[in-house]
Order: sequence, then C-alpha cells, then structure tokens
Amino acid sequence: MGNSWVSKQALSDEIKAKPRKLFVGGAWVESGCNAAIPVVDPAIGQKIAQIARGTRADVDLAVAAARKAFETGPWPRLNGLERSKLLLKLADLIEQRRDEFGLLETLDVGKPLSASINVDVAGAVEKLRYSAGWATRISGKTFQPFIPGDYHAFTLREPVGVCGLISAWNFPLGMAVAKMADALAAGCAVVLKPSEVTSLTTLRLGELIQEAGFPQGVVNIVTGYGPEVGQAIAEHSGVDKVSFTGSTAVGKKLIAACGGNMKRLTLELGGKSPAVVLSDADFDIAVQGVFRNIFYNAGQICAAGSRAFVHKSLYDKLVTALAERASDMRIGAGVDPTTELGPLVSEKQLERVIGYVSGGVDEGAKVVVGGKRHGNVGYFMQPTILADTDRTMKVRRDEIFGPVLCITPIEDDDLDHLAIEANDTDYGLSAFVYTRDLTKAHRMVKKIKAGVVRVNGAGIDFTVPFGGYKQSGWGREQGEEGLLTFTELKSVVMAL
Ligand code: NDP
Repeated sequence: MGNSWVSKQALSDEIKAKPRKLFVGGAWVESGCNAAIPVVDPAIGQKIAQIARGTRADVDLAVAAARKAFETGPWPRLNGLERSKLLLKLADLIEQRRDEFGLLETLDVGKPLSASINVDVAGAVEKLRYSAGWATRISGKTFQPFIPGDYHAFTLREPVGVCGLISAWNFPLGMAVAKMADALAAGCAVVLKPSEVTSLTTLRLGELIQEAGFPQGVVNIVTGYGPEVGQAIAEHSGVDKVSFTGSTAVGKKLIAACGGNMKRLTLELGGKSPAVVLSDADFDIAVQGVFRNIFYNAGQICAAGSRAFVHKSLYDKLVTALAERASDMRIGAGVDPTTELGPLVSEKQLERVIGYVSGGVDEGAKVVVGGKRHGNVGYFMQPTILADTDRTMKVRRDEIFGPVLCITPIEDDDLDHLAIEANDTDYGLSAFVYTRDLTKAHRMVKKIKAGVVRVNGAGIDFTVPFGGYKQSGWGREQGEEGLLTFTELKSVVMAL
C-alpha cells in the first residue's frame, strides 16, 4: 500500500469497520465477556476502532494454548534453523506492509508517520531478522571439572517455557516484536498483552503470524486492561516467565504477582535520565542530542533525557538554541507529512503532563518555552523547557513521560559533583554525556548509575543490551543478554 491520501482514507475506513478479536490457539475468538474497549485517535480525540476486552478466562485459554504448543505441538520439534526461517518470513511480511503498519501505528499512538514507518516498523523488521540469526546460534559451553575421574561437563540452553509479554503504549509494535522475536528464537511460546490504549499493530501482527505459518498456539494475543488481563498473566501458574515494559509502579505489582510460582521476570521500567553537557562539548551535537532525546516521540520515551545539566559557559546559548528549536517545531497530526511533534497518546496522558508542568510552576519553576496544551482538538502538548527547578520538585524527580525538559546550569566540570547531580534519582535507565575529552567521557561513564550511557548523541538499537539500574528495572532486553533471558541454563555432568 502506498502513502497516498486515498489509501490512508481506505485504511482508516477499514480500521473502523474491522472487528477485533483475541488470537488464541491460532484462531480469532471473541472475548469471554464480549465487551469492547474503544480505540481513540489522539490527533482528533475521537474513537476510530474498538478492541476486545479480554478476561481472566481468556488468559486461561491463551496460556493453555501456549502450553500445548510449547510441550506437544510441532513447535518444540523445530530446530533453530526452522524457527529462524519463520521469523524471517514474518519480517518479510511486515516489510511488505510497511506503510500500512506505519499508518496504523500513527493513527493509534499519534507519532509522525515517517517515524512510525522508518523507526518503529523498520526497527521491528530488523529486530526479527536479528533474532532469527540468534535462533541458529543458541548453545551451551563445555567445562573441565577438577573432580578426579573422566568427566564430560557441559551446559544446555533450553527455552524457558510459556512467556507472558506485557508491553507499554509508546512503541507498541516495536515492543511486541522485541519481546516476541527473542522468545520465539529461543523456542518459547508466548501470550502477548499490548497496552489497551494501543493494540492495533499487535493485532495486525497476529494476522501475519498466521500467514507466516507459525504453529497454532505458539503466539497468542489477549487484549484488555492491565489490572485484568496483565495481572492474570502475571499470576498464572502456567506461565514460566514474564517480560514486562511499563511503569515502575506497575512493575512493583508484577514482582508480587509473579511470586506465586516464582516466574522469571524481566522489568523494563521508567526513567528520569540525565543529560550532562561539559564545558568542552561540541555545541551543535549537544543541542541536537539534548533536543532529540526529550522531544522525540513527544517525550513519551522511557530513556528520555528529561534532566539536562549544562556547564554555565554554554548554558545561556544552549537554552536559547533549544527554545528556538522547540518554538519552531511543527505540531500536528502524525499523518501530516510536515509534522515533527504529534499528540500525546491520550487525554489522560495530556492531563498528567499539564498537571506536572503547572505543579512545577507553582513550586517556582520558570517556563522558558511551551508549558501549555496546543490547540483544543486532540491531545497536543507544547514542547516545554523549565528552568529554575530544584532537586526536590516533582518535575525534577518523577517520570513525566511527555515533552518536558528541566534544565539546570552547572558551575564546573567536576565529575564527582556532576555524577551526584546525574545520579540524584530513584531511576537508572539511561544517561547522556556530551564532551570532546575522551578521558572525561570514560570517567563520567563509570560514575553514572544507569543501564545505558550514550556519549555525544549516539543512537542505540536492539543489538545492544537495554535495561535499568535501580528502580528502572530488572534484567536486560535486546542483544545476546536479552535473548538469553528467554532460556534456562541446564548444567550436565557425565561420568564417562
Ligand atoms: P503501565 O505500567 O501503566 O502499563 C504497562 C503495561 O502493563 C500495559 O500493557 C498495561 O495495561 C499493563 N498493566 C497495567 N496494570 C497492570 C497490572 N496490575 N498487572 C499487569 N499488567 C498491568 O505503563 P504505560 O503503558 O503507561 O507506559 C509508560 C511506562 O512504560 C513509563 O513508565 C515508561 O518509562 C515505561 N517504559 C519503559 C521502557 C523500557 O524499556 N524501560 C520502554 C517504554 C516504556 P493497560 O495499558 O491496558 O492498562
């Protein structure tokens, strides 16, 4: 499908008309309660579709289907190369529908179409191909025990089992695929639960999983509310592992819910990530990096650089440059090709972000730019920069998950002092450092308590492990480390 207005209209109509069910055991089924959840286009604030409201009973059926597929179906008999081929086929099918997936994501989440297509969808395709490679490379090691005698000792990497994959709303397709691709590469079966706010691309993914020829029950999708469907997955004794992306508050609930059968649990949670600009930073790189890392995806990014600490010699110039760029941003619906900043995902999220900004202002923060809702249709927020915040304010401490940057001047390049500022948060997901001094860069990297540190505007993708220190999570996703969280390690010692 091309990107013409006509095809967008046709897809929009199709989205509205299409009934959306649950994907269980290889078939599309009604939810147990037959109720629906409205899907709202955040650019216009109107319902564009509806999804099925899954129940605890639906989760039971999905877990049973996954268990059957994992234990007795053709799936456990497929070798790594055969699993790899299925993942590659799925990647091809998504790629062929690149524009359709992009538009669906834009209508559901609000993000600019170019980002949906070139980042979210393209990233999902690449991730599937990357994980397909791992499916043929999962292996154990051999050891030489000291025990007297003739021994052969080795490890086996086995799939962990049935995995519950629960994802957030900011990168719906990317997140569903990131979790699923590694789980399937490892040989697991899965029950996916997308955020009820943004389930459309995950459901479309289900159709392509059917088309690609994955055995029935290997992938199941149950849409619905978190406290209902998500909680049921986390508590289910038939689930062996949960991979969760979402808020720290819900992550803590999952720790309790997964305790019953001691599920393996990986948590990708929130952040309040620092961007540290030293006096010798390349100015243009710093402006570009600080700007992008808070305003991309309207700031709805777990790794957003939401606290900037800028050396006083660059501070005024940098604040001015950021404010000019922010004021120039073209705010609008994601389907408009000129849009740079789309809406926030929902009215609730808009109210939350505005609440944080006005709370910060009440506490003494100064609005450098933005600070208000944009327009009165849809859920648009102006890109916002706040100065004069201090470490006790909620805008500086809480994850806002919107386009709001707190910027603070720093007196010197003392790395210990900077590290105290950067690490002054309960979170530890990400950090950004800007300097031309390699020694300072390395020293700063070591001092920062975060799972991912990026220097001088570096990007990141799924080849690199991703996850948090402190209350930003448990374990890692992506890269080899992420893949291995979908395996159990079995040690074998044989007396010969
Ligand atoms: P939530 O924690 O509210 O929800 C995440 C998922 O969990 C959703 O599918 C939600 O369902 C579900 N859920 C909610 N309550 C429960 C429950 N009691 N048991 C099980 N599942 C539940 O996060 P958001 O969707 O609002 O996403 C934003 C958060 O995600 C931010 O904190 C952000 O930092 C984090 N995030 C982290 C990333 C990382 O890699 N570290 C990446 C992206 C986002 P429903 O939506 O249907 O209620």
